[in-house]
Amino acid sequence: SEVRENLTYEKFGGAIRELAQTIADDGYEPDVVLSIARGGVFVAGGLAYALDCKNIHLVNVEFYTGVGTTLEMPVMLAPVPNAIDFSNKKVLIADDVADTGKTLKLVHDFCLDHVAEVRSAVIYEKSHSLVKCEYVWKRTDEWINFPWSVEKPVVRRDGQVLDA
Ligand code: 5GP
Repeated sequence: SEVRENLTYEKFGGAIRELAQTIADDGYEPDVVLSIARGGVFVAGGLAYALDCKNIHLVNVEFYTGVGTTLEMPVMLAPVPNAIDFSNKKVLIADDVADTGKTLKLVHDFCLDHVAEVRSAVIYEKSHSLVKCEYVWKRTDEWINFPWSVEKPVVRRDGQVLDA
């Protein structure tokens, strides 16, 4: 589709504050923020600071290979976090978007057996997502341009751009 939802770095700051406020208002005080790399890292850092949570973990998940093109199923890449680290913890999973919701479901199910409680926060959730996140900043069904991935992704010292 031609229509895009555009998140800029300027809008991102306000989005994270509002998302954090929603979580705080709800009374959820996570012990751990678990970010889904790479897009969720931006979200997790902002939320962890705003919620005064000092413990951030990270899981690498690969699913999308291009605009709207995916692997069959998302996969966790090594190193997979040690579930022991989450035992009896209140976990907040952070990602940029729940699209199909498969990525969040994978990470959510991974946590479920071990943690005291797990909830999810995303900037965007699409209506067809099979996971309904507890905390969503905005709902859209457009393809989203994120500021960290919309521009040429790899820069080099000599000004050449890889992977453009
Ligand atoms: P899902 O598993 O929910 O389909 O997709 C999760 C991941 O796919 C997101 O964390 C994000 O990296 C990527 N993704 C899904 N939809 C979009 C989109 O509309 N725009 C961008 N830039 N990435 C997306």
